[in-house]
Formats: sequence, C-alpha cells, structure tokens
Amino acid sequence: MFEKKETRPEPAKQRLTSLAELGEFGLIERLTREVKRFHPETLKGVGDDAAVIDMGEKVLLVSTDLLIEGIHFDLTYMPLMHLGYKAVVVNVSDIAAMNGIPAQVTVSIALSSRFSAEAIDEIYAGIRLACDKYKVDLVGGDTSTSTTGLMLSLTILGTVNKGDEVYRSGAQEGDLLCVTGDLGSAYMGLLLLEREKSVFKANPAMQPELSGFDYQIGRQLRPEARTDIRNMMVGTGLKPTAMIDISDGLSSDLLHICKQSNLGCNLFEAKIPIDEQTRELALEFNIIPVVAALSGGEDYELLFTISQKDYDKVKDISGISIIGHMTAASQGKNMITPDGHVVPLTAQGWDGMKPER
Ligand SMILES: [Mg+2]
Repeated sequence: MFEKKETRPEPAKQRLTSLAELGEFGLIERLTREVKRFHPETLKGVGDDAAVIDMGEKVLLVSTDLLIEGIHFDLTYMPLMHLGYKAVVVNVSDIAAMNGIPAQVTVSIALSSRFSAEAIDEIYAGIRLACDKYKVDLVGGDTSTSTTGLMLSLTILGTVNKGDEVYRSGAQEGDLLCVTGDLGSAYMGLLLLEREKSVFKANPAMQPELSGFDYQIGRQLRPEARTDIRNMMVGTGLKPTAMIDISDGLSSDLLHICKQSNLGCNLFEAKIPIDEQTRELALEFNIIPVVAALSGGEDYELLFTISQKDYDKVKDISGISIIGHMTAASQGKNMITPDGHVVPLTAQGWDGMKPER
C-alpha cells in the first residue's frame, strides 16, 4: 500500500480583527457599511443622535441605548432606582439633541436570578419617575432572564416638525460653538464613587466619604437631559445649525460635529464651563480640570452651533456658554489655551471598546 501523503498546504491563518483595534466607532462603521435603504421615508439612518423618519408634517426620531452591568454601570454604588431614571434620561437627551420632543419609550430588561421582584420594582420606579418628569409614555418592551448580570435596552421615539430637526452635519464656517451647563462633574463623580469603592473593598468597616460632593455624585448617578434649554431655544426662535449631546466628552462629541459638517473648530479652553468644586476635586485627583471636561463624558449637556446672527438670541439664555467657533476644515480642529497655544483636539472620550479603559 502506498502511504497517502497529505499534500494540501495548511490553510493560511486568517488574521482576525479584534474589537479593541476597531474601537466603538470603527465597529459601527463596519456593521453599517453595506446596509441598504428601501424606504424614502428614512431620512437619516445611523450616524446621528437619532434616526429621522419622514411622517409627513413631522419627522419621527428614534434612538436606542444598551446598558450592561459592569460596563455601563456598577451596582455597588448605582442604586437601582437611579439606574432606571438614568436609562430614560440618556435616551431623552438624544431626542433633545435632534431638537425633538421625546414621546414614547420601550424598555427591555434581562436579569439573572440574583435579582428579586422588589429589585425590578426599584428599576421601574426610576423609569416611571423619569417618564413623569419628561412626559414620556412607556409603551412596551421585553423581559428575559440572563445568565449573569443586568441588561437594559431602551428605545425612545420623539417627534418634531419636519425641517426643525437638527443634525450633526449642519454647522457652517463661522458659526458660534455653544454648550449648556458645565462639564466634567459627572466624570469626577464617577472617580469619587470608584475611589470609595476601592477603599470599601480594602476595609469594609470604612464608611464612604462622599459628603460635600452631592453635585458631582448627582451628575453621575442622576443626570438630567437638557430639554429645558431646547424648549427655551425653540421659544426664542433659535434653531441651532448642528447639535449633539455630550455623552462621550466634549472633545469626542465636538469632533463628531466637525467631521459630519466637514469643518474645523477653534475651542477656547478658558471658555469651557467647569464647576468650581469640580475643578478643585480634579486637581485633588491629579487631573487637569479641562481634561475631565474634554474626555470625561456623561454630562448629557447639549453641544451646538448657531449662526453668528443669532448671537443676541443665545446670549440672554442663562446656562449657555459660547466656547468657540467653527472654521474651515483646513484650519484643523483646535483648542486654544489661555496663553494662546494651539493644541489639536483628539478624541479621548469614552470609548467602551478600547482596552485602556
Ligand atoms: Mg447622543
């Protein structure tokens, strides 16, 4: 008998791409590259704070969010009621960022057996509280068991008159760059909670030392969406040219506006609104305060651009800071320091799939 020799060459090992290499935005791009559109009513798909669907006189805005225990929240310091509240708020914020009015939400939840019915009640109490506050109807969802941990997925619907929706892509050269509220406090709240968690782990007899930092803790655990400012702007006839909510950090979210509007920007460091106590707290943590504002994320403030001719309308609305202006793309995306240095902006915001996090 002849010995049959296997001559087939070993198949070349296919090099697989890790998710860390892609990053969150790279992954989204990859997944949506070949998506076809069948309906002309689909005005905007992936790539903004919400999808936009033509309904005739109005557009329907649709946004969805997935929250995973251990990735997006930590139940050692996140009370369940706050979690439910925050889950709704972050979705409402996306509708506000499209200049829309939030209307309905669906909630899907997966829980492992370690959660009791009372625990789920707590989550839903928070969801109902936020629905009351933002006048959103809870209209459906799904429930499932999970092998580990808690998962929440919310889909929100909102509306606005057709033509009044605001995209990330509408900014023009020379537009003023504005932001609501102040930035970086939610991140400092997170660092405080993480610090106390590690102290507690090392010595469970220690009581958490969080008093005096209610603002920062509150910004992290119980944020609010800026529907108030959105409504005020509508009331004064002010329509931003582009808008996004700050979920990843000022730097990363501003770069989205630049990219989609095909522009550059000059952001003035000294104009970035940062709470005084947050500033002190950052320094205590050896963090440059502006870095907390640029890269911290989860502030859920609105970042938007307006035409210069609307300056008079915006200057009288309290709680809005003008922090820079849009430039030609060739000018680059820059931050100007108080002493006049020009620093290129980089996306160092929250990116859940990068390993360094
Ligand atoms: Mg958003």
